[in-house]
Amino acid sequence: MQFIFMGPPGAGKGTQAQILGALWKIPHISTGEILRACVVAKTALGLKAQAYMDRGELVPDQLLMDIVQERLNEPDANAGWILDGFPRTVAQATFLDKLLQELSGAEGSTPNPKFGLKAVNLDVPDEILVSRLLSRGRQDDNEETIRRRLQVYREQTEPLIDFYSGRQQLVAVDGDRAMELVTAELQQSLSIDS
Ligand code: AMP
Repeated sequence: MQFIFMGPPGAGKGTQAQILGALWKIPHISTGEILRACVVAKTALGLKAQAYMDRGELVPDQLLMDIVQERLNEPDANAGWILDGFPRTVAQATFLDKLLQELSGAEGSTPNPKFGLKAVNLDVPDEILVSRLLSRGRQDDNEETIRRRLQVYREQTEPLIDFYSGRQQLVAVDGDRAMELVTAELQQSLSIDS
């Protein structure tokens, strides 16, 4: 069970990843949350990342690659995971492929036939996204930053839809519905019994 949850900011990927991670007993790994924790703790990484996050820009790929490499090497990631907010660029997706190849070939690991990467895209119209984000009230949820994050998503992250659909790994889901309906559809289309 290796899942990537994609979608524009406000699409509900964090909420769905949290619910389904708990249900399937696999870690929900949010790179945004990891970064926000580093900002609060004022680590070197947090200090570097903060300015990008406040502007609604992506934090440089290399920093994210280091974070994800370290996190996927934790023992609890062996049984699978939901990655929320990573990859966000084609360079990050290519890096993830390489990392997963290395991890699956790692000494002592048993190949698991249930493993297989799937990328979920939650689609929601822009006007709904903006109103959802404005009501959320996170530090980077002001109107100017929201507009920039949507633009960055369209430019840098949306190309990943073709990247994964070209490999038959994409599951497209309409995110503009009640939370419970989206969860139910995700459970069904990712064909996990729980
Ligand atoms: P999120 O919580 O996923 O909306 O992420 C919040 C912010 O963290 C984003 O606007 C980016 O500045 C940064 N961020 C999170 N994940 C990534 C990523 N994979 N690549 C670059 N920046 C990221």
